[in-house]
Amino acid sequence: MTRDPRYDVLFEPVKIGPVTAKNRFYQVPHCTGLGWLRPRMVAELRGIKAEGGWGVVCTEYCSIHPASDDLPHPYASLWDKGDIKAHSLMTDLVHEHGALAGAELWAGGSRSANLFTNEVAMDVASMPNMVGIPYQTRAMDKADIRELRRWHREAALRAKAAGFDIVYVYATHHYLLSHFLSAKTNQRSDEYGGSLENRVRLVRELIEETKDAVGDRCAVAVRFSADQDSPINGQPVIGEHRDMLAMLAELPDLWDININDYSQEMGVSRFVKEASLEAHMSYVKSITSKPVVSVGRFTSPDTMVSQVRRGIVDFIGAARPSIADPFLPNKISEGRLDDIRECIGCNICYTGDSKATPIRCTQNPTISEEWRRGWHPEHIADKGSDSTVLVVGAGPAGLEATRALGKRGYRVLLAEAEQWLGGRVTRESTLPGLSEWARVRDYRVQQIQKMANVEIYLDNRMSADDVLDIEADHVVIATGAHWLADGRGRFNESALTTLGPAAQLFTPDDIMAGHLPAGPVVIFDDDHYYMANVIAERLRAEGIAVTLVTPANQVSSWGMHTSEQTLIHCRMLDVGVDIITAHGLVAFDGHEAQIECSYSGKRRALAAQSLVSVTLRAPDAALYRELQQRSKTGGDSMPKSITRIGDCEAPSIIAGAVFAGHRYARELDTDVDPDHRMRHDRVFHEETTGDN
Ligand code: ADP
Ligand code: SF4
Repeated sequence: MTRDPRYDVLFEPVKIGPVTAKNRFYQVPHCTGLGWLRPRMVAELRGIKAEGGWGVVCTEYCSIHPASDDLPHPYASLWDKGDIKAHSLMTDLVHEHGALAGAELWAGGSRSANLFTNEVAMDVASMPNMVGIPYQTRAMDKADIRELRRWHREAALRAKAAGFDIVYVYATHHYLLSHFLSAKTNQRSDEYGGSLENRVRLVRELIEETKDAVGDRCAVAVRFSADQDSPINGQPVIGEHRDMLAMLAELPDLWDININDYSQEMGVSRFVKEASLEAHMSYVKSITSKPVVSVGRFTSPDTMVSQVRRGIVDFIGAARPSIADPFLPNKISEGRLDDIRECIGCNICYTGDSKATPIRCTQNPTISEEWRRGWHPEHIADKGSDSTVLVVGAGPAGLEATRALGKRGYRVLLAEAEQWLGGRVTRESTLPGLSEWARVRDYRVQQIQKMANVEIYLDNRMSADDVLDIEADHVVIATGAHWLADGRGRFNESALTTLGPAAQLFTPDDIMAGHLPAGPVVIFDDDHYYMANVIAERLRAEGIAVTLVTPANQVSSWGMHTSEQTLIHCRMLDVGVDIITAHGLVAFDGHEAQIECSYSGKRRALAAQSLVSVTLRAPDAALYRELQQRSKTGGDSMPKSITRIGDCEAPSIIAGAVFAGHRYARELDTDVDPDHRMRHDRVFHEETTGDN
């Protein structure tokens, strides 16, 4: 297939100071939950993106000195020779594919309490740690500022030694440099505070000094917020940032533009759609001649072209689209748009950083597994036998198993009870704001439909006899799970016997099937993610009165990790949901729900006609269990293996089901050592310390 000429503009080379990017696809710095802790995993992950066609591939935030330490969040570091060696693993791989490598130098300021290094954190003033750790910073004096400049320069030199082509001055995201810029936080009376020129001084010095140190061979990029504050009534507040940008306009070689409100910049698709930064940053290119990159969860090549043609950006910046599909540029280049695995905007990738674990992705089960399991996002080994595989259930687990097995060349039969594919993804994508989640199904179905070796049987609820009649060599049970209505979960460790009548008890499955409760409704959320609040929104859209009760101290506490908790709480307020936190459900009699304070145990009653429990799911594993039973007596006619995967094994998030399906397909007919399923990455042990 060939490229549509409309997209040629995306593949033009762009000069960035002394270096040239081969195209306009730019993987902006993004966290991986790997950082300096897992050098080989992160190197391979970035190298694969270069292989997939990204013209620029950057690190995550990269500490310039032990005085900026963000553990437990796994940042990268450029402190010493060992770091140079670790980063050169990445830059070598990136260069192998003709891409440029960028290092985002980072100084944390009051967002870092330095709990790992125990160094005193410094910022423009003595201020509280901004992520709630009970530490304050030391106000930087002139000597501190001189030291910071020295650290930055030396880290830039180490970046150059590690082979990076682009070195960042990172002046946004509420880290140290943005506090120097802000009139709110910078009230110094010396030449670094007061006037706009003074507040910009440190950033200016760092740009100049970085250029002086490495500018002969490396480009210098500045990461900068286009707006000064979060939007008011949806309107961007550009404020002084336009003037600041104008003052520095021609100094760096590239502007990497984001916005003040991180929850919008990196917003989940439920609240924020593609290209959402444009209103904030469309002025930028009018005041600088330097190339500009920005993000917007771009997955549509038409939107990308429009951004470039209309002069909004020069580079298509991406974090999430490059995670969901590291081969996005190559697929556009090769005219394979159907093969693009579009990001769904769920932000599970972000939980890697917040939970200090390797990044995972709902759409791309191979992310973080490139080095340790040898999984490539586009390549998979040919089949290991001529076996036929029967997959029962076409949710995300069954679909991914089918797709990957089909790609390996197995004959695959996929049986699904419903008349449609997608399982929970199809059901959940009908809920308010979740329509993009259907991309999990659509990508896989599109791929499967091209495979002559895969047969799909809809409207086929399989019994154990049906399964055995097919005489497949291997059987995969991916029959999913269902929500329980009995209140059992974290707060109530066993089922409540105080709930009834049954006709007034509902679960998310009922609501998704169109059975709506009579109001007023109490929703009991002991799941703490999106389901309870999205159901609340759905019911409010029908005009039904809703009270959301949760034993946690906030609505959707897990939403903190996907950067959506605040947006969810605001949405609940907007649509008129009453919220009661720190209370669990103890009884419901058809007229009243009894709830109990998580702290005092004190009870109170809420008027309620219906109860929706969002607490726990039960695996739909009856078919698996029966087949297991039969295999004990079935003799030679039984399949060689019967395996359950996804929610019917252990209910989890959609990413968990996709991963389970993928792993099954990868491992079939291979010798997996259960004690060593993956290689164990860790920090180098060789002599690594010492300056430069
Ligand atoms: P997962 O997230 O693990 O993929 P889902 O609940 O999304 O699980 O999907 C499970 C799918 O299995 C659903 O589409 C359901 O209709 C289907 N299913 C359940 N039992 C059977 C069965 N006995 N035969 C065929 N399909 C089934
Ligand atoms: Fe996109 Fe979700 Fe994957 Fe992140 S985890 S890249 S938001 S699909």
